[in-house]
Amino acid sequence: MDLKHWLGRATDAIQEWADTFGPYRPHPALDVDDDRFAVVFEEFTGRLKDNYPFFHPSYVGQMLKPPHPAAAVGYLTALLINPNNHALDGGPATARMEREAVAALAAMFGFGTHLGHLTTSGTIANLEALFVARELHPGQGVAYSEDAHYTHGRMCRVLGVEGWPVPTDGSGRMDLAALEELLRTGRVGTVVLTAGTTGLGAVDPVDEALVLKERYGVRLHVDAAYGGFFTLLAGAEGIEGLPAGPWRAIARCDSVVVDPHKHGLQPYGCGAVLFRDPEVGRFYLHDSPYTYFTSDELHLGEISLECSRAGASAAALWLTLQLLPPTPEGLGSVLAAGRRAALKWAGLIAASGVLELYQPPQLDIVSCFPVTDPVSLSAVDAASARVLADGMNGPDPVFLSTLKAGREAFALRHPGMAADADGARVLRSVLMKPESEQYVERVHERVELLAGATAAPRATGRGTEPAGR
Ligand SMILES: *Cc1c(COP(=O)(O)O)cnc(C)c1O
Repeated sequence: MDLKHWLGRATDAIQEWADTFGPYRPHPALDVDDDRFAVVFEEFTGRLKDNYPFFHPSYVGQMLKPPHPAAAVGYLTALLINPNNHALDGGPATARMEREAVAALAAMFGFGTHLGHLTTSGTIANLEALFVARELHPGQGVAYSEDAHYTHGRMCRVLGVEGWPVPTDGSGRMDLAALEELLRTGRVGTVVLTAGTTGLGAVDPVDEALVLKERYGVRLHVDAAYGGFFTLLAGAEGIEGLPAGPWRAIARCDSVVVDPHKHGLQPYGCGAVLFRDPEVGRFYLHDSPYTYFTSDELHLGEISLECSRAGASAAALWLTLQLLPPTPEGLGSVLAAGRRAALKWAGLIAASGVLELYQPPQLDIVSCFPVTDPVSLSAVDAASARVLADGMNGPDPVFLSTLKAGREAFALRHPGMAADADGARVLRSVLMKPESEQYVERVHERVELLAGATAAPRATGRGTEPAGR
């Protein structure tokens, strides 16, 4: 896709449409001289260089990457009109695109009837799900795992409901026995299950939690902001296939959140919340003539806590999903490459003398730490911090991130470690770009060197010639 060409076509197409409304004179107050613009633009693009190369496969730090060119063109084209999807007449075309895109997301999760819409972020999407949950279970709290996104605790405070963190097991999944103990108190009305934690990509046992929904009458909300699109790999053949259970079970939960601006190739400003029962639309009622909610009659302006939302977000998502639909062959093949990269790297780490896996990757997030002498939390913490800093600053940089692992969490996975601190940072890498599949050996080599591998033998017999840059 030639971005330059299509951005040019975008301005032409919108201008052709605008011309059908007859001529008018732009006001001189808005005039900007091209020469002056050139000067400021020069400074502007110069300042933008103060950034990390999110696009490059040497960047495996946080959950960041540029949008797909189709999304960029979709966004910018619609932006020239700047519709507002708070209501149908804020932009009928993008409102319809939003409905269609949301229906495609709902179908991906196996939701038949649904009520849903795009949001500005996963945080707001989760807030909406918890708001509806509070209306349905007034006076009861919300349980989420200790490894759930930090905004769940914050949003519980916003909503004035009690938040209950539930311990996780040695793979970062919610401990359902601990959850059930909490549910027996009757103080919890809603359980948030995370399908792909932000730290480690751990997938809570959504399927096993369905029993508790029956037994205790709780609502189940799935926070799949990061992991949602991995449902496309559920039950797939090949090494990238994921166990189907937790992903198929989402269809039987009450609500789900997914962030197209994470794994859906979109620019920021695109989350989504989906409810299985369209009737929950009644909780959003405000001064409006629209009071009837069915799956066919959702009116975006009436079912969102937010008012103004960028129609351009819906446009970008719609256009992208036409080209890379939420199917195993479409968007699924993008995620599969990252998943294979994560498995490949985990294999290299397992065979390395200087790095050790913190835990095996469940999605495309790899966690590991340098082997240290002495084998202690404080030594691991210092070594991880050093690799992170040296990696970014060297001549051939590699961009990682660190994750603070608590003492108990560490002990569950690595019982031999001397617990001389309350936890340790470990190295965490998010392989969300499909290019990682070709490049991850090179990242591994760099990290091994940084971890002090100069004297240690390389992993042998794998022909790991680095891919070209
Ligand atoms: C990123 C994330 C969120 C928050 O989403 P934003 O779009 O950053 O507001 C919530 N939950 C999980 C699991 C996430 O990964």
